[in-house]
Amino acid sequence: MLSLNTPIENIGGVGKTVAVKLKRLGVFTAGDLIYWYPFRYDDFSNLKKIDDLEVGEVATVKGKIELLENRRSYKKKMIITECFLTDESGSIKAIWFGQPFITKLLQNNDEVYFSGKVEGDLFDSYFKNPSYEKVSNDTAHTARIVPIYPLTVGLTQKQLRFLIKQALPLVKQIADWLPEKVIKNHQLINLTDALANIHFPGNKQKMEQAVRKLKFNELLQLHLQNYLISKDLKESISTPLEFHEKKTKEIVKNLGFTLTDAQRKCAWQILLDMEKPRPMNRLLEGDVGSGKTAVAALAVANCILNKSQAVVLAPTEILASQHFQSFRELLKPVECCLALLTSGKQMIINTTDEEPEKISKAKLLKLIAAGEIDLVIGTHALIQEKVEFKNLGLVIIDEQHRFGVDQRKAIREKSGDAATTPHLLSMTATPIPRTLALTIYGNLDLSIIDELPPGRKKPETKLVEPQQRKQAYDFIKNQIKQGRQGLVICPLIEESDKLGVKAATEEYQKLSAEVFSDLKIGLLHGKLKPKVKEEVMNKFHQGKLDLLVTTSVVEVGVNVPNANVMIIESAERFGLAQLHQFRGRVNRSSRQSYCFLFTESSAEKSIRRLKTLVGCFDGFKLAEEDLKIRGSGNLIGSKQTGFFTTLKIAKLTDVELIEETKKASQIIVEEFPEILETIKLAGDVHPE
Ligand code: ADP
Ligand code: MG
Repeated sequence: MLSLNTPIENIGGVGKTVAVKLKRLGVFTAGDLIYWYPFRYDDFSNLKKIDDLEVGEVATVKGKIELLENRRSYKKKMIITECFLTDESGSIKAIWFGQPFITKLLQNNDEVYFSGKVEGDLFDSYFKNPSYEKVSNDTAHTARIVPIYPLTVGLTQKQLRFLIKQALPLVKQIADWLPEKVIKNHQLINLTDALANIHFPGNKQKMEQAVRKLKFNELLQLHLQNYLISKDLKESISTPLEFHEKKTKEIVKNLGFTLTDAQRKCAWQILLDMEKPRPMNRLLEGDVGSGKTAVAALAVANCILNKSQAVVLAPTEILASQHFQSFRELLKPVECCLALLTSGKQMIINTTDEEPEKISKAKLLKLIAAGEIDLVIGTHALIQEKVEFKNLGLVIIDEQHRFGVDQRKAIREKSGDAATTPHLLSMTATPIPRTLALTIYGNLDLSIIDELPPGRKKPETKLVEPQQRKQAYDFIKNQIKQGRQGLVICPLIEESDKLGVKAATEEYQKLSAEVFSDLKIGLLHGKLKPKVKEEVMNKFHQGKLDLLVTTSVVEVGVNVPNANVMIIESAERFGLAQLHQFRGRVNRSSRQSYCFLFTESSAEKSIRRLKTLVGCFDGFKLAEEDLKIRGSGNLIGSKQTGFFTTLKIAKLTDVELIEETKKASQIIVEEFPEILETIKLAGDVHPE
């Protein structure tokens, strides 16, 4: 008997290889299968007579198979499978390419459904690669609205549908946590029906109801989690960190530049928060290059001056290393001790020292626990480490990942004083429009750096179509001849290439062999050892590499002011706000910078979308544009930032539902407080 907790290995039809693949998707149990939602549907419910089929339409027909055979294509490269399907009105040919096994699955005279697109012309129409299934009352792949799932390489839609179908009866065991009253008031279907119909909807209306219900539950849960975080914070105490005016002024003087008004304002809001005996919970939003680090440094300095420890968490080791260097410079007027702690590397430095000192992890942990280290900089992995602080006063999270109640608890337990909660500052270049941020993160205070430092030129952005590549390459060569450096960003092409190994390596090989054979090119992707990554980054920093080929994941936060040219391959695969973040990477000095958007796409929509970037340099506007065009799924490359990992089905464009669920959350808090106990606490901090 299956139960929700049955491991996938024990489900009929799941072999070892499939199990590995499912686990890669995060599907471990039968229950997980149920929560693996389709991302779209093919509507094959339109059952037609063969004679009525029209070229170009997507339809399903029911008939008998005749003349089924495999043959080799004339180029002998591929097996082609053909057959005719006949019903009482007529006959139509079906052709599959490279699927010879079909002749084993189907036989002449079988009664089957074919679903797919009708190709050809009026005189010779045929189904190309149709889905097929033997006739029954309970189809999964044809003759219905068919779910299309996110996959990983080597896993097919058919396999997933087959497995999900087996797990589906278990939905009856999943209790809806919504009270009847809320379900009624908002005209929702119950959870069991929703989960069943999200996968195999009886019809379009049922599918829509299922989507609405699941979005509703998800958003409601998010609001309730936010409520819990706020409540938790209101009931928590923190150590007030007094504002040290004189020293702060000294640090500002030492910056080497004048703070912008926006930086000043944000720093002030943060410092005021930190003086309170309630933990700060603030999000600092600011475009790439707007100077968030300097603002963060002022907060850190004031924490240290209060004899409290601070921690800065960065999303990658590279960024952590860069922060280690920047903070060391910025904090010079405050005599203090900084440590870098990542899985691959540990070192410490006194602001009065010249060179950092390598140190063992064990030793470093001891120094932190003894309060000898004032600022620890590391990756998210740090939270999972056995770090114990003596008195942690401030936590800063750069390029924030959602930080929930669980993480706060974990940090509080390590903070050296379980009675107090450290102040928390999250920083992001992700421009979430203000109103949206306030609704969806009702528990956060918001500071926005809405101007760039003066003198920054706008990155000259060009859309480069395939025939103009050479010109662009020549331009880049020329910049490099003048001593500049460049970045080449490659998108992840396949779901399975999460670390970008394939994408970046192929590009690297192409550029080194053909295009820029006379230049020094470096390669950076997620699978390199931290040490190698660092070597590559150092070389790039020191100008020993002309070009750096990297993936979208690795490069976040690279800060090399001498780099002023960027190529983004297959730019159409990214959201506008994300592209904007990328080009900010080469706009770190007062020199003119250039961003080339390469695209192979000729789709008018993509081109128009990319062209917005040419004239617009406002991250917030671009984010709103993304929101309009592509929905929140791709706003800011949500996967990359981890910002909305808690939303599986709802989108930030569901503005009405977001508001509706906000109201429902108040009802729950007032009338059904017991439900709050069951809400799973938010917060998945993703280590690298
Ligand atoms: P981000 O907000 O993307 O984290 P950084 O803090 O890394 O930006 O700052 C980007 C660059 O701009 C750094 O080299 C920093 O020294 C510089 N910078 C920051 N603030 C100012 C300012 N007010 N004037 C001039 N340069 C600044
Ligand atoms: Mg930054």
